[in-house]
Parts: sequence; C-alpha cells; structure tokens
Amino acid sequence: MKCEIIKDLFPSYIDHLTSPESNLEIEEHLQNCSQCRETLAQMKEEVSVEEPLYDKKKINPFKKLNRKILQSVIITLTVYALLVGSYFYFFGIGWKVNSNNMEITYSCEEDAIIFDFELTDDKVLTMWHIRRNHEDYTGPEMVVRECFESILDDRGKYPNQFSYGINCLDEDGNLKPFMKEETITLHYKDKTETIYLKDVAKELGIEIS
Ligand SMILES: [Zn+2]
Repeated sequence: MKCEIIKDLFPSYIDHLTSPESNLEIEEHLQNCSQCRETLAQMKEEVSVEEPLYDKKKINPFKKLNRKILQSVIITLTVYALLVGSYFYFFGIGWKVNSNNMEITYSCEEDAIIFDFELTDDKVLTMWHIRRNHEDYTGPEMVVRECFESILDDRGKYPNQFSYGINCLDEDGNLKPFMKEETITLHYKDKTETIYLKDVAKELGIEIS
C-alpha cells in the first residue's frame, strides 16, 4: 500500500477505529517504512499532547465558572448586607446627637410637664429609652440619636421634634411635689445631661414644696 493511503488511515488507526484487516496492512507497512513509522509516532505524540489540553478546555473552564459564580454570589451578598446595614444605620439606628444641636423647652399642660426636644440640624430625632429597673430609679433615661430622613418612611411633619410628658398631678388631681432626685437623663455624644424635675417645675411656676 502507498504511504499516502497509510498516512490517511493513521488518525483512525490511532483512535482504534480501523478494521483488523487495515491494521494488519498498516502494521506490515510500518515494519518496512521508517518514514511512516516516524509520521505515526509524531501523530501519536500530538494526539497525546492535545488530549489533556482538550480536557482542560472542557473541564477547567467549568470549574472556573463555578468558582466565579460562587465569588459573585459572595460579593453580591456582601454588597447587599452592606447596603442594608448602611440603610438601617443612616435612616434608622443613626448616631448619638451632639448636645449643641439640641434645644429643649418645657411647658405645663393640664396634667403634665411637656418636654419638647428639637434638633436644630434638621435630622430625624430618635429617643432611645433605656430601661433601668434598679432600686434607685429616679426617672426616664434616654439616648439621644439622630439619622437622615428617608423618603420611604413617614415620620410626620417635624421629624426633628420629639415630645415627652411627665405627669404632674396626684390621684386627687392636685399638683404633686417632685422629689429632689427625680430626673430625666439624656445621653448625648459629648455628654450626659441630667434634668431635675423639681427645677423644671420651679421654672414653670408649678413648684410645690
Ligand atoms: Zn510508508
């Protein structure tokens, strides 16, 4: 058989797709033809080099893709968590107020002293009550915080204001005296302020001694 025909059969021969008869012909020819032996050896080498490459292309991109998908999922979740966290921080939880940005006025209504808190920096005011159940409880204690106003929530017309009432009448409807130690405590960023109810009552002219 001619060398050209033999060489044409090599790809199939390498892949074991040739018939036993062809194999015999090919092997017989190879015994006598060093050129074809060389060609076959070369082709076998190329195939064996190509195969792992072929595998890499087939399998590794898939693994890489998986890793990439996992990475982007993690990144997406992280970004999402940061966004949600930032949203709640800037539009919800907020930060402690500087006492310079707070104005407090007192007034007396029928049965209560009203404390009007107003932020002068036009942020949203949130007062966080701290519950203290200790025995020497002397009055409400609040952490003064502020945050940005969100268009998503409705905080009323004056989100920078907050009112707090303390009852000033006894069971019989008479003005009651405040104890010397009765207070409202406000925790700011820069300080803790203690307001004595007795002093407030005095300022409002409803002090009973
Ligand atoms: Zn040959």
